Amino acid sequence: MLWIRPFDNLPPLPSFPHRTRKVTTSTRCQGRVYVLRSFLITIDTEGDDIWSRRSSAETRNASFLPRFQSLCENFGLRPTYLVNFEMATDRGFVEFGRDIIARGAGEIGMHLHAWNSPPIHPLTSDDARCQPFLIDHSDDEIRKKIEFHTYLLEDVFGVKMLSHRSGRWALNGIYADALREFGYRVDCSVTPHVDWRSTKGDPGGAGGTDYREFPEQHYWMSTRNIAIPGMSSLLEIPMTIINRSPAFLSKATEVCKNITDLPDRARRYVWPLEWLRPTGTNLRSMLRILDTAILQDRPYVEFMTHSSELMPGGSPYFPTIESVEKLYRDLNELFSQVTKHFCGSTLIEFHDRVLRPCSDN
Ligand SMILES: [Zn+2]
Repeated sequence: MLWIRPFDNLPPLPSFPHRTRKVTTSTRCQGRVYVLRSFLITIDTEGDDIWSRRSSAETRNASFLPRFQSLCENFGLRPTYLVNFEMATDRGFVEFGRDIIARGAGEIGMHLHAWNSPPIHPLTSDDARCQPFLIDHSDDEIRKKIEFHTYLLEDVFGVKMLSHRSGRWALNGIYADALREFGYRVDCSVTPHVDWRSTKGDPGGAGGTDYREFPEQHYWMSTRNIAIPGMSSLLEIPMTIINRSPAFLSKATEVCKNITDLPDRARRYVWPLEWLRPTGTNLRSMLRILDTAILQDRPYVEFMTHSSELMPGGSPYFPTIESVEKLYRDLNELFSQVTKHFCGSTLIEFHDRVLRPCSDN
C-alpha cells in the first residue's frame, strides 16, 4: 500500500534485498569468530533541536550524518537510523539512507514523533510545545499514525521497516500490538530503571512509561504485558542503562516516596543512572559501561544519540563546533575500545541471531 510518493524526482531505487544484507557474525568480527557480543548503534534521526519545541522542524542536521557514518564504517560498526517524519521527507537524508541500504552499511528503521506525524489531529492547544506522546492518543489514532509512517518509510526507502523506537521513549500494549501488526520485529523504546510518569506529553495525560520493573536485556515481549518476556514476534532490545545504586537502597527510598522523594533524589545524585549515550562529559562512564557489559557477559550494548546532536547547535548538549569536535574525539576513543570486544551489528541483525522458542501470535 503506497500512501504518497513525494520523491519521484530521486534516482530509481536500486534492487536490494528485503532487509539489510545477511552476514554472519564471524565475517564481521575479522578473525574473532567466536565473539558474539554486539555493539548496537541507534540514532534517533529527527529534526534540528527538538528540545527547543519550535513550531516547525528544520532538517539541516541531515548533512552532518555522512561524517558519523564514515566514522562507524572505519571501525566496522553498523548504525541503525530510526527515522521520523521530517527526516523521511528530507531529500538529502533520503539519498543518504538509500545509499546505506544499497551498500548494506546499516539499517533504516522507524521513529515516531506523534505531534507532527500524519494524520494530524491536534491533541492539545499547542502540540509543538507540549509534544504529546503517541500513547496520549486514542487506540485508533496510534494505529493510524504507525500505519502512515511505516508505509511512508517503506515507500521512500524501498525496504520493509523492521525496527522501531518510540518518540520520547513512550510505549504501551496498544502501541506494541500495532507494531506487530505492521510487521515490526524489533523495538528499542524501553529504558530500564527509568520512570517517565512525571514527564508529560499532553498536560492532562498520564505521563510517560514507568520502566523500573522492565528487563535490562533483550526479551521477546509478551503479548499480554510489555514488561515481561513472552513468545511474541517482537524482540525488545532495551537501551543500555546501568544502575549502580545498591538494590536495598532503591527499595528503601521507594518505600519513602509516598512521604518524600528526597531520599530517592539523594540516591540518584550519588549513583546517577549511566546511559550509553554521549553527553560531551561522560566518556569515562561510557567506557565503564563497556567493562560492566563484558564482566556481566551481556550479549549486547546499545548506544544511542540523536542525529541533531552531531550538528553544532543542533541540540543543547553540543552547541558549538568545538563541542562537536570533542564529541568526535570521545566517539573515536569509545569505538576504538568497542572494536576490541564487540561486533558491530544493526538491530535486525541482532534480532536474527536471537532464537525464539516458539510463537504465540
Ligand atoms: Zn525523537
